[in-house]
Amino acid sequence: MTHDEIKSRFTETDPRRLERLWRQANELRRRHVGDEVHLRGLVEISNHCVRRCAYCGISARRTDLKRYRMSRDEVLDCAREARRLGYGTVVLQAGEDPRLTGQWVAELVRSIKDQQGLAVTLSLGERPAEELSLWRSAGADRYLLRFETSNEELYARLHAGEDRGLADRLAVLRELRRLGYEVGSGVMVGIPGQTYDDLARDVRMFEELELDMIGLGPFIPHEATPLAAEPPAPHDQAANTELMARKMIALARIARPASNIPATTAIATINTADGREMALECGANVVMPNLTPPEYRPMYEIYPAKACIAETAEHCSRCIRGRIAAIGRKIGTGHGDSPSYLHRHAKV
Ligand code: SAH
Repeated sequence: MTHDEIKSRFTETDPRRLERLWRQANELRRRHVGDEVHLRGLVEISNHCVRRCAYCGISARRTDLKRYRMSRDEVLDCAREARRLGYGTVVLQAGEDPRLTGQWVAELVRSIKDQQGLAVTLSLGERPAEELSLWRSAGADRYLLRFETSNEELYARLHAGEDRGLADRLAVLRELRRLGYEVGSGVMVGIPGQTYDDLARDVRMFEELELDMIGLGPFIPHEATPLAAEPPAPHDQAANTELMARKMIALARIARPASNIPATTAIATINTADGREMALECGANVVMPNLTPPEYRPMYEIYPAKACIAETAEHCSRCIRGRIAAIGRKIGTGHGDSPSYLHRHAKV
């Protein structure tokens, strides 16, 4: 797809042509990653963060926010729960929290691998190469780090007051690749100041980075963050709607047909009725049910009114299985590695 071909999809309103886009993405999904929907148990292990991201509700700017950090045993209990519920992967996510030390995380990863045999995904922000290497040696399989936007200037605005820019984030993504991680990244759709040209360039970036996983969701303003009070947008401001997020998912599937693409909680948040199903039917093939202990969930409020926040792990599992079955798909078995990764490492 050329830049203009990608861009034209964002302004497309013709129902028949949109239907064709969903069908094309859904067909590529079926052909390259099959009908299985892989479940990853998400554990939000700490909401401490040293970064000042203008969009995020747990940034260091939030001096009023109560902070927590889970203990090793609490995380191991969640991993046990993931296994019991039949999930193939546990995802450990947090703010950028240096007190989650290299050694502590490495031991945690080793214990989860030993005890449960699950695939382990880390999403702990930009960390030094030595730590990423240590965690990889301890058995971590995958790493998630969104680049948020490929527009360098917009990225700088979102991370004002920090000494790290887009180039630093992309360097971490390349380091993760070099270390043999399955690499996941992605963007928010509809960030104030983001245009359709930007989104089209984001899709090209998915290709350039040869991503194995692509996480996409609408930007959801959080009133306690500076971005919620942004001035009026330019006329080609990308919309932070479900439709735009679905277009992005479909285009990501077309750009990287063998990657894993989650139907994210952000999409489920702006369409609680059937946002996940809609995403699964236009290219997505992964769901990440939340396994964070209920007492911590309200404190991991990246954006407001997060879907499923009050649900138990048991309830989430049952609900999501029902939704997957209802659209004629199957629950994934095994770790659910992306074929793009397996091909690169010649495991198939
Ligand atoms: N600290 C880690 C992981 C937690 S944030 C990191 O930054 O990588 C996980 C993702 O949530 C971010 O990458 C961002 O794309 C998304 N996010 C943050 N704030 C959001 C908001 N207000 N609306 C929608 N998505 C948001």
